[in-house]
Amino acid sequence: MSHDNAAFLVDEFGRYARDYDIRPATSARIASDISTEIEATGGQVAMYVADSSLFPSDTPEDQANVLAAFHTWRQVVPTAKRLVVAPWERFLQDANRLRAGLAKGKYDAYLLMPRGKRDEEFHTAVCELLSDWGSTVAQPEIETVRLVAPGQDALTLAIRDFLDRMGMPHRLYAPDSEIGRGIVQRHNGAEAWPLVESPYHDVWAPATVREVAGAIYGRPDGIDLEAVMDLCIVGAGPAGLAAAVYGASEGLTTVVVEAEAVGGQAGTSSMIRNYLGFPRGISGMRLAQRARNQAIRFGTRFFTGWEVEGISSDGQSLSGSPSGHHVVHTDGGDVRARAVVIASGVAYRKLRAPGIDDLTGRGVFYGSAMTAAREMEGYDVVVVGGGNSAGQAAIHLARFAKSVTIMVRRAGLEETMSRYLINEIEWNPRVSVASRCEVSAAGGDGRLEWLDVKDCDTDEVMRRNAEGLFLLLGAEPHCDWLPEAVVRDERGFVLTGRDVPKTLWAEGLPPESLATSVPGVFAVGDIRAGSMKRVAAASGEGSSVVPLVHAWLGEPD
Ligand SMILES: Cc1cc2nc3c(=O)[nH]c(=O)nc-3n(C[C@H](O)[C@H](O)[C@H](O)COP(=O)(O)OP(=O)(O)OC[C@H]3O[C@@H](n4cnc5c(N)ncnc54)[C@H](O)[C@@H]3O)c2cc1C
Repeated sequence: MSHDNAAFLVDEFGRYARDYDIRPATSARIASDISTEIEATGGQVAMYVADSSLFPSDTPEDQANVLAAFHTWRQVVPTAKRLVVAPWERFLQDANRLRAGLAKGKYDAYLLMPRGKRDEEFHTAVCELLSDWGSTVAQPEIETVRLVAPGQDALTLAIRDFLDRMGMPHRLYAPDSEIGRGIVQRHNGAEAWPLVESPYHDVWAPATVREVAGAIYGRPDGIDLEAVMDLCIVGAGPAGLAAAVYGASEGLTTVVVEAEAVGGQAGTSSMIRNYLGFPRGISGMRLAQRARNQAIRFGTRFFTGWEVEGISSDGQSLSGSPSGHHVVHTDGGDVRARAVVIASGVAYRKLRAPGIDDLTGRGVFYGSAMTAAREMEGYDVVVVGGGNSAGQAAIHLARFAKSVTIMVRRAGLEETMSRYLINEIEWNPRVSVASRCEVSAAGGDGRLEWLDVKDCDTDEVMRRNAEGLFLLLGAEPHCDWLPEAVVRDERGFVLTGRDVPKTLWAEGLPPESLATSVPGVFAVGDIRAGSMKRVAAASGEGSSVVPLVHAWLGEPD
């Protein structure tokens, strides 16, 4: 879409012409007509590319028109990527005007137009956007796993969720569709749904998500039972993945056991914008799958869908003797390892209300989401939670947002929040408190626009505008499975280093910084007491633990 550069852009995008139809438009209106025509004929739009000259500084109406057009196209094709390109002469000058829209997510990227052939930097960015589009479209073009079911029952949904988080392209077919009928014919068992067809297994009707995970990614008892690994990592969030990449790359035989899907909490984030090295952001799923592939390349073995249920030493109790080894127990078999890294993270308490899951990462955030706060400029924002973290988040958000409402079910904040924060909130004209109410639904066109709020006394429901919802409902550590010998704080987070009670120090010396009260057992990431609860902090700890593991194993690092 460009007045002056449409032909040039069509030529530049020529390398994609085999797989995509490239459609030029000289105005936003023509592009809208083309979108409607494509949509009406059942096609999909992968990307809009708009010349920055369509956003002129001197005619705000035109600029508003293009932004309105982007908004309209988003309604017609919510999954299409939106790219703004500028010729070299205008790039810096236009950047000043476009920066705010970029930060607010009105478009996905702002790039310099190629200035000659083989501008691979430009095309890398385009390919990344197309790759992201490919993984978010409702129906993938290429599928590795096929499911057949008459509808979306709970098991079918859970299997699809698992496959999504693992980055495994899949598609659901009706039993009476052509492909569905073929799969039903290839199934030898009794009628049951869903049926699953994949390159890893004959057509079958799994009873659980774990069966699917096991069929695709194997079982822990697939390891030679006599083998003792150097390192077993429990949990494949950013902390566990980093420990796997660094451990395996430094020659340790490494196994990762993950209860759900690789990626942990970060894997549920639709766009991580503050992780070093990804200027256009990266979806948590992609970051996790890249890290998993990196770890596999160095020899790590992953077992996905297996919850660790306990650790013992030589099958009895944890002794911590360096000559022995730890045994990590799962339903699918045990893993023996000389060192164990606990990276089982925390789970934010979820808000169970219609619309919340679909809009998570698109206006709805768990935790204080510092990066998202900047995108709230001029918006009405709701913070749910009455603890100190909610108070701090509200004050931080008030620097950007037009209004911030703290919503609690209690009568006020006095019982749950520190006085100094309550004072700051009372003083801040942008922050207000709504007590005795709760969010009962959320909705919007591609991102959060409104909330239904229920009065806890009258049950009356009122709809209100909100472009941001920050859920600070508290986080619970994943640690029920840990033996008592691994000492935790009163909230259940694992103590390491100098935080381990002095009575457990050996010869008056504290354990190493990431070592727990049990020698040879380490803890990293969100599960560790005092950790930062961020992707970069978790992956930093995951990599930092490896020299300590080397030292424990008595090897040079
Ligand atoms: C929606 C969302 C968005 C976020 N966005 C950002 C962001 O933009 N930037 C940022 O810096 N931070 C963000 N965070 C925070 C960040 O994701 C976490 O700090 C980070 O993931 C912590 O990593 P971790 O590896 O310690 O734990 P987790 O990511 O929690 O991973 C722990 C893993 O261990 C597994 N596990 C638990 N128990 C067991 C068991 N018994 N056996 C086997 N496996 C087990 C879990 O299934 C999980 O996969 C976000 C968090 C959420 C929820």
